[in-house]
Parts: sequence; structure tokens; C-alpha cells
Amino acid sequence: MYVEEAVANGAVLINGAKVKKVITAGKNAIGVEYKKRGKTVSAFAPKIVISAGGIGSPVILRASGIQGAGYSFFFDPLIGVRGTVKDIDVPSSDIPMSAGVHLEDEGYMMTDMAHPFFTTAFFAAGVMRFDKMFSRRNTLQIMIKAKDNLGGELTDRGGIRKNLDKLDKQKLRRGYERAKKILQNAGGKNIFKTGYLAAHPGGTVKIGELVDSNLKTEYENLYVCDCSVIPEAWGLPPTFTILGLGKRLAKHLGDT
Ligand SMILES: Cc1cc2nc3c(=O)[nH]c(=O)nc-3n(C[C@H](O)[C@H](O)[C@H](O)COP(=O)(O)OP(=O)(O)OC[C@H]3O[C@@H](n4cnc5c(N)ncnc54)[C@H](O)[C@@H]3O)c2cc1C
Repeated sequence: MYVEEAVANGAVLINGAKVKKVITAGKNAIGVEYKKRGKTVSAFAPKIVISAGGIGSPVILRASGIQGAGYSFFFDPLIGVRGTVKDIDVPSSDIPMSAGVHLEDEGYMMTDMAHPFFTTAFFAAGVMRFDKMFSRRNTLQIMIKAKDNLGGELTDRGGIRKNLDKLDKQKLRRGYERAKKILQNAGGKNIFKTGYLAAHPGGTVKIGELVDSNLKTEYENLYVCDCSVIPEAWGLPPTFTILGLGKRLAKHLGDT
């Protein structure tokens, strides 16, 4: 909606373009260099906002000379805890995450997580539960998502190098035990957990370190606005926060 609004107001949207680096002149950012269909192209603007996400943005910044980007981040690791309940038929239209609880003191959140056929089978196979690959209709799943400690580093090409520490694993294990009891109380049998996943990479270009409180980098006219600017361990769905940051930045840039 916001993109459509911007285009209606005259913004030019270039799809399928991969930004490689920011073009600078001294301490000023003046444009970006991007690749589209194998061609390298430059675009220039008075203000530049990098919003390539928790992995994409630090890669662009590093290629633009901001070497500190992409270290000590979070990614909110998660597992699914699954149980089989006889005589239920979970509809394929079941909406995941329709209820949830944030157990802040224990360092994780939990929510219901119905899956479509493909991912039910894929994640069961991932932990060798081939017997559960085709059990979507009578599988109940609870997702445990932990607040991991900051750590790790990205490679220059965006490869993720991070291990879960003892405390992170303990949070997920405790969440697993709690989810297991809930599923057992619901009649669940054959309870098992999926492998680790992570879907919220962020904290790679932190406010207070690489951007100021208005999301400006060390270069004039260069801003970053996405999950990468969150400055501390997170452990929650970040979308509303990121939208809020975007609206705040838009107002700030409009005022300057
Ligand atoms: C399966 C899944 C489920 C999720 N569910 C939820 C949820 O229920 N609630 C919630 O709040 N969050 C959820 N999240 C997390 C949420 O989607 C992300 O945290 C959020 O989208 C991050 O926003 P962002 O703007 O930082 O980055 P993104 O949304 O990742 O946007 C970055 C964009 O930049 C593009 N890009 C990257 N590099 C370049 C480049 N070099 N040049 C040009 N473009 C580039 C990418 O293609 C992408 O379109 C989920 C994530 C996943 C994977």
C-alpha cells in the first residue's frame, strides 16, 4: 500500500534491481549502483534510504565502506513442537498464529502454527520423522520462538555465521517442554520437535552504533530503515516496529 501510494505520488519503482553499493562523494552519499539483467546502472538522489533487510543492508553498507555492519546480531531462532491427535481434521485454511503468548521472563514466545502440506512434510523429514510427513490433517503444532543473545557475523556476501549459545538452547528446550505438556493435554501423541529455523535477522546496523536516532549513517544523506537498525536482542515479530520506524523516518525526511 505504501509503495503504491509513493508511486501514485511520482516515485519510480525499479523491480529486479540488486543494489551493490552506495555511491559517495567525500562524506556525502549521492546515489546507488545496482545490477539489473546483468547491467550495472547508477541512480542518483538527494536522500538515500537503504532498506534491504537485516542481511541485505549490512552487505550493501560494507561494500560502501562501512565495515562495522553485520556483526553481533539476533535472528530469533525457533522450533516447531508437533503432536498427532487422532480423529481431528485440521482444515488447510487454518490460520496460523491466531493465538499467542509472550513469556518474557523465560525468553520466548509461543503460538499455534498450522502448516500447509509441503512444509509439514519438509520439516518432518528434516528430523527424520518420515512417519509424520503426511500427517498434516491430524498434526497440532506450537511454535517456540526465542530471544537469542546478540552474536555472530555476516560474510561480505551475506552468509550467516552464528551459533546458538547455551542460554539460547536452554530457552528453546524449556519452551519445548511447556509445549509438549500442552499438546499432551490436548490428546497429542508421538510428540517431536522440528530442527532450528530463524526468520527475523536484525541488529546488524544498530541505532547508536552505525546509525543515529534519526537512522542516518556516517554519510550525509544516507539512511538505513529496516530490521537491521534494531539495537538489541529482540525475540518478537518485528513488522509493526519496522513500519513505525519507516513512518517516523518519512516524517523526519519530509521535515528536513
Ligand atoms: C516465514 C516468515 C514468517 C514471518 N512471519 C512474521 C509475522 O507473522 N510477523 C512479523 O512481524 N514478522 C514476521 N516475519 C519477519 C518479517 O517478515 C521480517 O522481520 C521483516 O519483513 C523484515 O523487514 P525488513 O524491511 O527488515 O526486510 P525485508 O522485508 O526482508 O525487506 C528487504 C527487501 O530488500 C530486498 N533486497 C535485499 N537485498 C537487496 C539488494 N542488494 N538490492 C535490492 N533489494 C534488496 C529483499 O529482496 C526484500 O524485498 C516472518 C518472516 C518469515 C521468513
